[in-house]
Parts: sequence; C-alpha cells; structure tokens
Amino acid sequence: MNGDIEQFLRERLDHDEREIRRRWNRHGVTSEKFHGTPFDPTRALAEVGAKRQILAEVTSEAHYWCEDNWYACAAHVDCADEDRAGGSCDCGREERVTRKLRLLALPYADHPDYREEWRP
Ligand SMILES: [Zn+2]
Repeated sequence: MNGDIEQFLRERLDHDEREIRRRWNRHGVTSEKFHGTPFDPTRALAEVGAKRQILAEVTSEAHYWCEDNWYACAAHVDCADEDRAGGSCDCGREERVTRKLRLLALPYADHPDYREEWRP
C-alpha cells in the first residue's frame, strides 16, 4: 500500500545525503563555518539519518495486539479471533503509517515524482 511513498522517501534521503556530501567536499562547506545553522553539513547529515530512523520506525509499526488477547487486529499474526484472523487491518495501522509517511514526504512536494494524492 505504501511501497511507492516509502521508495520515494528513500530516494529523496539518499539524494539529500549525496548532495550534502558533494557540496561539502566541492565547495568547502564546513561545520565550523555554518555551526548552529540549518546549513551545517554535520547537522544536515544528522537530520537525514534521523529521518531514515523515523522512516524505519514508522514502516515497522505493528498492528495492535494485547497480550491477554482480548483484542488483536485481524491482520496481526497472533489474532486468536477465528472469525477475524487473517482479515484486513482493523486497528488503524495503515492509516497511521500512511499519515506519517505523507508528512515525511511533504518537504519534497516540489519533486517531479511527488504525487498530489500523497499531500496530507
Ligand atoms: Zn491493524
């Protein structure tokens, strides 16, 4: 469901990292010169790394499930409700993940591969 936007985000983050490193090396941009600003390459690379971690956490979000099994999403592997087990997600995980991915993609809305349907 979210494969395209995940791939889009991975490509944008890879591109951002390459551009930061290229400009850092080619134009002599230094952390000392831009310390404390959004243009500090160390900070910019840290932001790319943090976004990658957020992306990994968002996409690995589990379906709801309670250990005592009074409730489990139908899509959760341990759903014990025989009538619902193996069904579509009914815990809202897909909507939560989609919303977060769309927010992460919003800064790239001017990219030609960005889809307007992703706009939150
Ligand atoms: Zn679910």
